[in-house]
Amino acid sequence: MRILIADDSVVSRHLLDATLRRWGYEVVVACDGNEAWRILEADDAPKIAILDWMMPGMTGPAVCRKVRANAKDKDLYTYILLLSSKSQREDLIEGMEAGADDYLTKPFDQHELQVRLRPGVRILELQHELISAREELRDQATKDFLTRIWNRSSILDILSRELKRGMRENRPVGVILADLDHFKSVNDTYGHFAGDAVLREFVRRMSGSIRPYDAIGRYGGEEFLIVLPGCDSGVTENQAERMRETLANEPMWFNEESQLVTCSFGATAWLPDSLSSEETLIRVADDALYAAKRQGRNRVVFLPCSGILAEAVRVGQPDPGAK
Ligand SMILES: [Mg+2]
Repeated sequence: MRILIADDSVVSRHLLDATLRRWGYEVVVACDGNEAWRILEADDAPKIAILDWMMPGMTGPAVCRKVRANAKDKDLYTYILLLSSKSQREDLIEGMEAGADDYLTKPFDQHELQVRLRPGVRILELQHELISAREELRDQATKDFLTRIWNRSSILDILSRELKRGMRENRPVGVILADLDHFKSVNDTYGHFAGDAVLREFVRRMSGSIRPYDAIGRYGGEEFLIVLPGCDSGVTENQAERMRETLANEPMWFNEESQLVTCSFGATAWLPDSLSSEETLIRVADDALYAAKRQGRNRVVFLPCSGILAEAVRVGQPDPGAK
């Protein structure tokens, strides 16, 4: 565990430094209040700080107040011990009111320091466990258990968010629905474990072929929704074709047999200045997917979405995207 020592006295600094190192802590040293604040403000700041009260630049309590004011945007708590030669009661109250967790009077007693550090270490360990548990829960609530990509409700949220962002920034959004071909026969022939392995391998290949800011989620059993921010019709169609190829160009192996697994893709895109909603985009992508299946599978069908719909609404024409 890392500890920051901020003290303008060389003797006191060295004594603390040597003591803490002997106890196995990693020590970061600051010579005044400003330097201490710079260190504590950083992302990888030590989570325990021992701050001298009187220091040039900024006093210990002043640094303490800044740390607490800044803590709102940070996840991790900083445990702060104030170090002071002052021992009047009102001074200590001022220090604690500045947000310090505890204090130590100088010259410090080693045993007392050890005892006062203990709750800090305990709090930070507990907090670490709580944060891990929270992350784990969040992960379970938003990710698909089998494939570790977004689950249905998360990918729908992402689509909704990206569509709103697209409207605000006047940027297109591509949407692809992908459905594995004859997936039931994989399960029937090779068993459900093989089916799971196919889904995971499919996701691995798809995830490898999209950009880091694209999103892929499991929409249904063997159906996946891909959201491509900033992609117009042409780019979305090409992306779907690239995804189709990553699957169709190389067979998968299970039970020491190779088997070509293919997928059908229905693609569409929302274009700026057109009317549309998530529901319409998904409906059009679904129509496109259905057309791809009907035309023989292992192919991409792109259907334009909102532009034509909006135009159709305006001139009273039938919607050419409809089945
Ligand atoms: Mg001092």
